[in-house]
Amino acid sequence: MIVFESVTKRYPGGTVAVDHLDLEAPKGRITVLVGPSGCGKTTSLRMVNRMVEPTSGRVLIDGADTAASPPAALRRGIGYVIQHSGLLPHRTVLDNIATVPLLLGTDRRRARSRAMELLERVGLTPALAKRYPAQLSGGQQQRVGVARALAADPPVMLMDEPFSAVDPVVREQLQNEFLRLQEELGKTIVFVTHDIDEAIKLGDRIAVLRVGGRLAQVASPAELLAR
Ligand code: ADP
Ligand code: ADP
Repeated sequence: MIVFESVTKRYPGGTVAVDHLDLEAPKGRITVLVGPSGCGKTTSLRMVNRMVEPTSGRVLIDGADTAASPPAALRRGIGYVIQHSGLLPHRTVLDNIATVPLLLGTDRRRARSRAMELLERVGLTPALAKRYPAQLSGGQQQRVGVARALAADPPVMLMDEPFSAVDPVVREQLQNEFLRLQEELGKTIVFVTHDIDEAIKLGDRIAVLRVGGRLAQVASPAELLAR
């Protein structure tokens, strides 16, 4: 479980991006942070893997203060998926997926065979393995981004608008496949979106943020729909 304990982030210059956030993201569930642009979603997400350090408060993972883990060690257990897949342009799809296992010392043959497996898992054909990211559609690139984040088999996944840059038809496919995959894998996921419909579709638990970085409410999808 991930716990935000009265977490505040004030950026240099004075903007309070996140204001005393108290929130729990249960193990094996999808917790969605939703709210308008600028309400502190990305900042909150990045405080989990220490890309951003809280000004005050703590973020705990399974009871351990993240501030006590060196960022590199912490990130080994945390997958990170962003809007524009963040793929390395000069590496093939296969090498992009295998990057993390290779860095972690998995031998080359194993890393590649696992990457091929993940490629299929996210609904891509093996023929795409040798292409470069620019030779894929937007939707395909996002799938590769998800496969890459899964490659190290992290228990925690942080996902920042992963499906927002693709057209609505592809987005719906990606959402459905994501839910199917999560059913199987049961990761602890924090998912950021500005789209309330996406939040209701994907979230087990939905945290609604307001501009100013305050938590407005935490609700189940059914509770939000009933409003
Ligand atoms: P969201 O993801 O909900 O759009 P962000 O977490 O990106 O919100 O931003 C929250 C607030 O913090 C915004 O007002 C934004 O301009 C500000 N902000 C984000 N990153 C920085 C930064 N590196 N330096 C200063 N202000 C920032
Ligand atoms: P979508 O809208 O479904 O995300 P696109 O219309 O961008 O997809 O692409 C459709 C198909 O064309 C995909 O199968 C993709 O692999 C292929 N494709 C797109 N761009 C290129 C490219 N630069 N080189 C080779 N194939 C491409």
